[in-house]
Amino acid sequence: MTHILHRQIHASLPVAKGGRGVELFDEAGNAYIDACGGAAVSCLGHGHPDVVDALKKQAETLAYAHTSFFTNEPAEQLADRLIAGAPEGISHAYFVSGGSEANEAALKMARQYFVEKGEPQRRRIIARRQSYHGNTLGTLATGGNEWRREPFRPLLIETHHIDPCYAYRYQEAGESEEAYGLRAAQALEDRINALGPDTVMAFVAEPVVGATAGAVPAVSGYFKRIREICDRYGVLLILDEVMCGMGRTGTLHACEQDGIAPDMLTIAKGLGGGYQPIGAVLLGQHIFDAFAEGSGLFQHGHTYICHPMACAAALAVQDVIERDGLLANVREMGAYLRERLEARFGNHAHVGDIRGRGLFLGLELVADRGAKEPFDPARKVHAAVKKEAMKRGLMVYPSGGTIDGTRGDHVLLAPPFIIDRAVADTIVERLGEAVDVAT
Ligand code: PLP
Repeated sequence: MTHILHRQIHASLPVAKGGRGVELFDEAGNAYIDACGGAAVSCLGHGHPDVVDALKKQAETLAYAHTSFFTNEPAEQLADRLIAGAPEGISHAYFVSGGSEANEAALKMARQYFVEKGEPQRRRIIARRQSYHGNTLGTLATGGNEWRREPFRPLLIETHHIDPCYAYRYQEAGESEEAYGLRAAQALEDRINALGPDTVMAFVAEPVVGATAGAVPAVSGYFKRIREICDRYGVLLILDEVMCGMGRTGTLHACEQDGIAPDMLTIAKGLGGGYQPIGAVLLGQHIFDAFAEGSGLFQHGHTYICHPMACAAALAVQDVIERDGLLANVREMGAYLRERLEARFGNHAHVGDIRGRGLFLGLELVADRGAKEPFDPARKVHAAVKKEAMKRGLMVYPSGGTIDGTRGDHVLLAPPFIIDRAVADTIVERLGEAVDVAT
């Protein structure tokens, strides 16, 4: 009997007792390779001694100081560090406790930016159907997952959704990648024009779609055109790298690989690697200037912004990633893991697509590979893969349900940046068995 309201009330969950490196252990002594970092969180794996030391030191020095009274050293240092590595034009960081809070703050920043600039009619948000931006009311309204939105629809703010850039499903036969990217991006311009350009405040998108779709990157050229369109109409571009950012795709920020810089970039999960809850909005100089030259404040805030323990954890995690050259390992192991996945599933009758970047890889599972026919959703194949994988000592992140009107089952892999070839081989071996049994 538990007094916790768990996500799945009738599920019986093993009790996590400990973690070391790439593995988690339950109460019964079973070990699980954490091939998804929980939800793409544990980028350094578990129990990293350097992070544990940094946390101990910070707890002894300063656990908490409210930001209406003080700033603090870990937060200042983390901001310096993030801005030094940020895309062009990004000048400041706003620290919160997670991904939803980061996106919620970014939406409010966008709105206040236009109020400060004397364009209060700009209030509309455009996002994509195949996306997840969080579970607060503002971010839920922005996300494109209908199942998550449905019960809360009457409470959601006005948002508008366009088709995602999803080559596996929407690139037409004979259409080049470039042509498809431009066609997909055109949907944004068409929608801005349909809504009235001076009413639109922001376009929000994940550079690599994670939780709802199993690591779907845009085709090359798509985001460049999106950036041009946003510039043409004065619409802010908010990139949500909560899941795909902070090294997960092999570069610090995923958008580096698309060759663009957003007006705001949200990050979370891999920032603190799960050692503390932390997220951030990285914002452009123009946003900061509008606030600084206008009301002189950002009209928002939470009790735990700039939390010293959270910032110290993030600093320690980012230090280790840099010191140990782990982004190079993400690129090398990402390429290796993908090669192994292709060898195992390339001809699998029920694996339609293998995709992603770096150590952010996904499989799309289908009933009929040739016709790309999805499974009957009642079978919940994605959930069955997760269950079979757990039985074999492997954690993978499943997603399913309705994606942009298309039913889909996906499995997401986001293992810690520290994996080696032997771990990658074991992941593929166990996943192979789980997929065979579940499909
Ligand atoms: N944005 C993206 C892309 C995510 O994947 C998630 C979580 O999965 C969120 C936002 C929400 O983050 P959090 O669960 O930390 O609130």
